[in-house]
Amino acid sequence: MNKEIATINRTRDILKKHGFSFKKSLGQNFLIDTNVLSRIVDHADVTSETGVIEVGPGIGALTEQLAKRAKKVVAFEIDKRLIPILDETLSPYRNTTIINQDVLKANIHEVIDQELKGCKEIMVVANLPYYVTTPIIMKVLEEQLPVKGIVVMLQKEVADRMTAVPSTKDYGTLSVAVQYYTEAKVVMDVPRTVFIPQPNVDSAVIKLNLRDKPIVDLKNHSYFSDLVKSSFAQRRKTILNNLVTRYKKDGLSKAQIEDLLSKANISPNRRGETLTIKEFALLSDLFYQEQG
Ligand code: SAM
Repeated sequence: MNKEIATINRTRDILKKHGFSFKKSLGQNFLIDTNVLSRIVDHADVTSETGVIEVGPGIGALTEQLAKRAKKVVAFEIDKRLIPILDETLSPYRNTTIINQDVLKANIHEVIDQELKGCKEIMVVANLPYYVTTPIIMKVLEEQLPVKGIVVMLQKEVADRMTAVPSTKDYGTLSVAVQYYTEAKVVMDVPRTVFIPQPNVDSAVIKLNLRDKPIVDLKNHSYFSDLVKSSFAQRRKTILNNLVTRYKKDGLSKAQIEDLLSKANISPNRRGETLTIKEFALLSDLFYQEQG
């Protein structure tokens, strides 16, 4: 019986056998700790009825642990050099499908229809390539894929921003964007030593539970995103000053903006970083209405 893929010796053997060289530009840092991997799978609550979408299987370290517990695993891998390696390492697991494609260009809805029919729920589980963590997560959320949750490893600094609460230094546009769709928390910190090659940042695993419906009903989502971005434009400025800078070019006067803040019951002296998502939503709806 072969050892598990994520053991250091087996990983080295696989890389050597195939003459594989890491591409830093593709965020290739492979996990070599089966304990960390199995804890990731635990956090994702994967059962024999779960369908899993994985991004970036590498040589199959996480895919193997997922395949042991899930009904089906579909993994998107951009690097075609890894496809023959995965064919070999995952050959014992008949419930895996590898798609050689950039996940950002993939039609994931279609893949779910074709590959994950009959699964009770769908989870996205991955050790993400760090250069594209945010676009990948936002794609899953904005395309409103029918997934129950997302459990992914990413840079600790980005994990902290995605899960931050108001009035903390990490709270910003990314926290609002992610938490509009999900309940978000950091579930594990992961040291650099469990990867080859070792990345030069610390890592963490986050769990995003998708809300049945977004936390607030919005009159216009892109208006909301723009208003949130403007509110954080200069973090040390008050919400009033940031909004005046942004909306005076649309013809709103300072007095009108003060009036809208007062209608939303938000003091003009507060900073954007103190506003909850619900407060941003209320403000955005009032501004949107005012501008017709
Ligand atoms: N899952 C493996 C592990 O944990 O050892 C590898 C994780 S490694 C951090 C990220 C993987 O994502 C690499 O295999 C890389 O080639 C792949 N990748 C990078 N960009 C991608 C993209 N846009 N779409 C799909 N896969 C991508």
